Amino acid sequence: MSNQGCELGLIGLGTMGRNFALNLADHGFPVAVYNRTGEKTREFMEKEVDGRDIRAGYTLAELVGLLRRPRAILLLVSAGAAVDALIEELLPYLEAGDLIIDSGNSHFTDTERRSRSLAGKGLRFMGLGISGGERGARYGPSLMPGGAPEAYERVRPLFEAAAARVNGEPCVAYLGPRSAGHYVKMVHNGIEYGVMQLLAEAYDLMKRGLGLSPAEMAEIFAGWNRGELASYLVGITARIFLQKDEKTGQPLIEVILDQAKQKGTGMWTSWDAMDLQAPTPTIDTAVMMRDISGYKTERLAAAARLKGPARAFKGDRGRFISRLNNALYAAMVLTYVQGLALLAKASDAYGYHLDLEAVTRIWRGGCIIRAALLEELREAFQARADLPNLLQDPGLGRRVMARQGALREVVAAAARLGLPAPGLMASLAYFDAYRSGWLPANLIQAQRDFFGAHTYERVDAPGVFHTEWEEDE
Ligand code: NDP
Repeated sequence: MSNQGCELGLIGLGTMGRNFALNLADHGFPVAVYNRTGEKTREFMEKEVDGRDIRAGYTLAELVGLLRRPRAILLLVSAGAAVDALIEELLPYLEAGDLIIDSGNSHFTDTERRSRSLAGKGLRFMGLGISGGERGARYGPSLMPGGAPEAYERVRPLFEAAAARVNGEPCVAYLGPRSAGHYVKMVHNGIEYGVMQLLAEAYDLMKRGLGLSPAEMAEIFAGWNRGELASYLVGITARIFLQKDEKTGQPLIEVILDQAKQKGTGMWTSWDAMDLQAPTPTIDTAVMMRDISGYKTERLAAAARLKGPARAFKGDRGRFISRLNNALYAAMVLTYVQGLALLAKASDAYGYHLDLEAVTRIWRGGCIIRAALLEELREAFQARADLPNLLQDPGLGRRVMARQGALREVVAAAARLGLPAPGLMASLAYFDAYRSGWLPANLIQAQRDFFGAHTYERVDAPGVFHTEWEEDE
């Protein structure tokens, strides 16, 4: 253990903080830790530190005293009021040039506010998105930093060492000023919501549509995870179907209540996408479906009264499962496409100057949405960095087109069977709308002009026009 000041102070020894501290220490960086509840710090030091260069502060003053200058202090605490309170408490102990990093799931507008307020005090602030859960924090997360470039340089060696690696490249890159990192993390979570919904729909089609057992689905998802759908979420889905419930001996999935909770990051993505007029229908749908799942009592009452079609799958099951594989690939790509198009729009709107190739690169490992297909998305941005929408990439466009037949077939089957598959449907509709040179928006303009004199543009002349529409007497 050296006598020099610690490289980083870490506040918050919850699930993420404890693991991230161990990760950094394992890479040779001395870390000082602090937790509001001192008992947790004591327990951590006694049971987990195990000779690593991790030192404990039991007050904030003690923590700050353990750090080398300029100091870097990383908060891994519950987002919201806790972050503001801790910043306030830290201020008396800090000096110009010190850096505070908020690595919780903070809303990007809070990060904007904190960046401005701390810059006014001569302090640096970084909003750091972190993904990968407990295991990621311990062995290699994906890190999404935003803030001043020189602030990033202060912690770059630590982050590059602690982050996940794919083909030798660390899953961290400087993303942009102020809230750029937290914004990218928010959209990461929005994509996560979308993909989880698509996988849930595939499960429903196999369970209620084809009548497959969890063991059969485990095999199918495991097979998919060896192909072009290879991804963290497909992999854990296969594992979930194999888990047995200790109490009943049944597959655990069968005894988990069908009500999905949310912490809000998917909804934040949809909100901001709507604000920026960047369509993200698969993500919006995923949020909506979590909401509908919450209406369990009403759903049960409705199930007794509202009858859909008689559910019987007719056809070749093996063929349908292979079509589902292709449909999922297309819909998953379309979900990432929507998220990245939102990032392109947000980058302009908020002055982030995001490098989307870097975003796809750092999402390839460590994070919840890591997937083999990110390599293809990255190649598209390598070919053209300023792509406003990945569907404009000829290669990717071709791959989605080649699977559109499967997506249409699966969506049609879901509609016939009366099984909700709105994520798959929304992805297909996004594709069909985006590739439509003409959309019926002319009718909407006509209606707007009819009832509100909102005017319209013409296809054959510049300017705005209004018609005195004839109403029925
Ligand atoms: P935990 O619930 O495990 O831990 C929360 C931590 O925050 C504890 O150390 C707690 O201290 C501290 N804390 C809460 N309120 C205050 C406060 N007012 N003042 C000081 N400290 C406070 O959370 P996680 O480790 O799971 O998450 C931490 C952050 O990381 C959150 O923002 C979360 O959204 C984000 N995150 C979590 C992921 C995950 O998979 N868990 C993944 C990615 C990001 P005390 O022990 O005293 O209660």
